[in-house]
Formats: sequence, C-alpha cells, structure tokens
Amino acid sequence: MKAAIYHEPMKITTEDVPMPKIGDMDILVKVHACGICGSDLHMYRLGVFAEGLCRPSEGGMIPGHEFSGEVAEVGKDVSGISVGDRVSALTFGGMAEYVPVSPAYLGINVYKIPDGVNWVEAATTEPLANSLHATKLGNPADGQNVVIFGAGIIGLGIVQSLKVTGVKLNKIIMVDVSDKRLQMAKDLGADDVINAGKEDVYQRCIDLTGEVPVTILAGAMTSPDVHVVYDCVGYIQERPEPPVLQQVMLIAREYGKVVVHGAFEAPVTLEMMPLVAKHVQVLGSYGFVIQEDGARALELMRDKKVDRMKIVTHVFPIEKAKEAFDIQCQVDNSIKVVVTPINN
Ligand SMILES: [Zn+2]
Repeated sequence: MKAAIYHEPMKITTEDVPMPKIGDMDILVKVHACGICGSDLHMYRLGVFAEGLCRPSEGGMIPGHEFSGEVAEVGKDVSGISVGDRVSALTFGGMAEYVPVSPAYLGINVYKIPDGVNWVEAATTEPLANSLHATKLGNPADGQNVVIFGAGIIGLGIVQSLKVTGVKLNKIIMVDVSDKRLQMAKDLGADDVINAGKEDVYQRCIDLTGEVPVTILAGAMTSPDVHVVYDCVGYIQERPEPPVLQQVMLIAREYGKVVVHGAFEAPVTLEMMPLVAKHVQVLGSYGFVIQEDGARALELMRDKKVDRMKIVTHVFPIEKAKEAFDIQCQVDNSIKVVVTPINN
C-alpha cells in the first residue's frame, strides 16, 4: 500500500509499504481523507513530537491522525463495527491507504460517519472535537468578550463552536498575522479581527471591548474587558518575539480565563505578574473528551450547523504528501490541507 513516510525535518516521501495486519480487537480502515494537523507541522519543520505523531511501520514512520475511511476488515472480537462502515477514527498512521485501529471501540476511538457528511469533512472531526473541548473549558457567558489568537483549524473551529453554543457573546475577536485567515474568521462569524503584524493588539482590544480596572490594585493596572482568551498559537521556536501567551495574559481581564491549546516547541520565559494580579486562570487544553466531543463534532456537520469544507483549502493525492505539507506550512496560502490516500 502507499503511505506517507516521515524521515527527518522537511523530508516526507510517499512509499510502497507492507499492508498492516490486525489483531482480534482491531479494525483496518481504508483511508479516504487525512488532514495535516498543526502538530504535524512542528514535526515536519523541526522533528519534534515525531514519536507521538506517527505510527511506526515496517516501511517507516507514518504520520496522520485526522482521518476518515471505510472499514475494510474487522477483528473477530470487535463488536458494533462492520466491513463497509464509514468511520472517523483516532489513531496515528492515517496518511496511508490502510491504517489499523488497535484496539477499536465504537464511540470511544471509532465514530460512524453520519449520512450527508463527506470524507473530507469527516477527516476534520478530530480537530473540531478539540475546538469544542477548548471552547467548553473557556466557557464564556452571555455578554462577554472572547479573543482567539491563531486562525488555524483549531482557532477557526473555536469560532464555529462558539457560534453554536447558544451563548450570546458580546464580541468574538480573532487575532492572526494572515489577512486571508482573518477573513475566514470573519466569514465564520468573528465580529472583529486584528492583524497582529500590523496593529497594536492590546490597544485594539481596548478599543473594541473597553478598559476595566484591576480591583485589587485600586485601578493602578487595567486590561481590556475580555473574559476568555484562547491561545491557539503556542510557541514556535524560530520566531524572535515572546510567546503569544505573554500577550494573551495581558489581554485577559481580572478573574478571566486563558485557555492554552497551542503546542510549545521549547520552554518559555514569561512575565507572570499580570496574571497573578488579575487572578487569571490558565487552563491547558489538549485533545478532547471522547464520546462527548467526537460525536458532537459529527452531529454538527450532519446538521449543517458548521461548515468544515470552507476551511479546507487544498486536497492532494497521497503521491503529493510532501507538497501537501509544504503548502500547509505556508500560513498565508492555506488553511486546512487534506491528503486523499484512496481517490474519492
Ligand atoms: Zn491534530
């Protein structure tokens, strides 16, 4: 079978590798679509997280964990899943014609794709579930302002998630350095956008939300009136500026929340006093609550409450896996890139 193989930073090839074998508790999925995750880019650029993001196989390290496909084989001890079922599953090595899901449990790491949801959309189940999970941790209330840093698949998914929570937010504000991605955030429902490469983010947040005092300091310190800030950027080692998290801490108001979803490529230095003085809670967010968020992501797509196809900018056959990664690295040229091992 064909598979994308990660070798070293900036080197991914498409190879013919042996077919995977499955055990009694496993299923084999014939992959129709597999997305490239932000975390995969950390691996591709620097080699970090590679062990955690690939399935080691006889043919090499196979990346890909956001995929959809058709069940091709079912182990004898697996229940509720049959050959031919359309599924979205959670495991690594999805950027290949076939991937073993081992072990396979329906509703835990295997979800059936509802009718009306296509392969490419279904491949975005995992990142949407991540966005739903992060959104819930922030849990903004009616009338509050929310700022999201990073208009990638997770940040944009948070915009989509916020729009379906039923909460009447005052403003959703997206911060990014790409006008193309900011435009997408607007299309998906962000009220305002800030280009961090061109504008003073802190000042713009005050202009958009107002300025509130920090009570304990008798007003000697202020902040924008932002209750929840989502950091979907993390830390990219080669960028000279401090981590986005530093700015995120300045923007959250007192008793506000910061939800950190981005990955950090290296340890960082932060000025913590703004956070301490403002009693800001910092919450890490990684992955999602199985069953709950995975199923909800597919329901939202089935009910056409979120349109994931809008975010998918490129689809490549598996032979062009390297090109797919290169395009995904071009922030201003792509949003979500999907590879199709089996031509749809
Ligand atoms: Zn991912």
